[in-house]
Amino acid sequence: MDNCIFCRIASGEIPSKKVYEDDLAIAFYDLEPQAPVHVLIVPKKHYDNITMLDDDALTAHLFKVASTVAEKLGVKHGFRLVINTGKDGGQSVNHLHIHLLGGRELQWPPG
Ligand code: 5GP
Ligand code: ZN
Repeated sequence: MDNCIFCRIASGEIPSKKVYEDDLAIAFYDLEPQAPVHVLIVPKKHYDNITMLDDDALTAHLFKVASTVAEKLGVKHGFRLVINTGKDGGQSVNHLHIHLLGGRELQWPPG
């Protein structure tokens, strides 16, 4: 999608601080980090949100990428994955993404 910011990051048109990339997914640092480690794991194909994701292999792949990134960034002992969905879920970018947060003790429940 031409006007989607994460499609444009995934294609390389907009630069990002990349931590991982393969044919299906890209992971890059969030512009406004909420933790010492805050990375977004994003499928290259556009899905508005998790409810549109109809590809089981890609679903599994994204979680594997999250685990790989956690290990690479030294937070495998403790981190959190978040998928904000829709307005009430706090989603602000309508291209499916998984937040990976770590590097500090995270509180529960979230606000
Ligand atoms: P959401 O609120 O949709 O769950 O998360 C969107 C995230 O994308 C936010 O944490 C926001 O800081 C991040 N973000 C928005 N625009 C950009 C951008 O252009 N580059 C990067 N690296 N992160 C972005
Ligand atoms: Zn997109």
